[in-house]
Amino acid sequence: MKPYPVISVKPREGRRARSGSPWLYSNEISVNGIAKALPAGSMVNVVGDDGQVFGTGYFNPKSLIAVRLLSRKADTVVDEAFFTQAFQRAASIRDALLDQPYYRLVNAEGDGLPGLTIDRFGDTLVVQIATAGMELLTRPMLAALEKLFKPKAILLRADMPSRALEGLESYVREVKGSVGRVEIVENGVRYLASLSAGQKTGWYYDQRDNRAFVARLAKGRSVLDAYCYCGGFALAAAHAGARDVTGIDSSEPAIALATEAAASGKLTAKFVEADAMTMLQELGAAGEKFDVVIADPPPFVKSRKDVEVGAKAYRKLAKLAAAVTAPGGFLVLASCSHNIPADRFAFECAAGISRAGRTARQIHASGAGFDHPTHPMLPESGYLKAFVYAVD
Ligand code: SAH
Repeated sequence: MKPYPVISVKPREGRRARSGSPWLYSNEISVNGIAKALPAGSMVNVVGDDGQVFGTGYFNPKSLIAVRLLSRKADTVVDEAFFTQAFQRAASIRDALLDQPYYRLVNAEGDGLPGLTIDRFGDTLVVQIATAGMELLTRPMLAALEKLFKPKAILLRADMPSRALEGLESYVREVKGSVGRVEIVENGVRYLASLSAGQKTGWYYDQRDNRAFVARLAKGRSVLDAYCYCGGFALAAAHAGARDVTGIDSSEPAIALATEAAASGKLTAKFVEADAMTMLQELGAAGEKFDVVIADPPPFVKSRKDVEVGAKAYRKLAKLAAAVTAPGGFLVLASCSHNIPADRFAFECAAGISRAGRTARQIHASGAGFDHPTHPMLPESGYLKAFVYAVD
């Protein structure tokens, strides 16, 4: 096999990559004529000016993150065997902690596979490809999935907005079988989700442990789940014996799935299609209170320049949610924005609670579940923040 073209790291650059980060930014590398002419997603060897081998990765001249490394050795062949090994490793970690194959199987850089996210729903796999490099590796990647997991269905959801940064088009394609809606078993609770039409991959596995935490608080209590999607927190609470459960979401299909899952599981929960902030405001004005309130909104901070606007929205939401939390109750506030750091989000939550005229103690702080591993050199690959407060 011919060796890969070489991308060289500029003198004194690439410090994070030297310490183990899988990324090289475009300003850290010197791009000669040959590199410039490489098609987006080409495999390359990355070498320092001192000859240090950084590893094998894929290169995209159009992207700010110019190289994403797949291996720490040069000339690594990224074929079906490579993916098989990576998938086996990823699955073994999940299978160590969960007894059913419902989990995020691959979390991109966190699992050594930049640009690739795979959610596993029993014998259905939903694959998201975010980068040009991973797009070119689709064939061996799918072959490995096929052999290892023998899935009934594979859905490619290549429809994330971030693909545009890589110069990629959006598409959703059934590679195998037909993927409609699935039943998901999580913490002993049955949910319904639509994988082809739902949000992201169709389900938010990242909140699994936080839903279990809420379930521990729910027995005998009234629960309000704002931004409930298909009922993640709400049905966990109902299953745990909550006295009364209400879910709010603006998505009609999500509300329909949550309602149907509640009925088929004989769980008592009602779901309302509404704008969450408006409804929280109305409930607050009417003096309604709930023993457990969850607010898990879509990302309010979409990019770094939106931090201030998003931070204000988080503060407002914390205020509205605290106002409908009963004295002695519990409040769960979550953010899935990459671009707001945990300490800033915590500050906005605290400020919102205080503006509602309430005091609280933080009793729990968490993030995404273990099946969303982060690369230790890429703290920014962690995005979910969830805080639980005991409100006075
Ligand atoms: N808590 C959920 C995940 C929430 S994701 C779970 O455990 O699975 C964020 C949700 O917010 C999505 O379902 C989206 O439909 C909903 N949403 C977005 N804007 C909204 C709005 N203005 N009012 C209510 N829901 C909204």
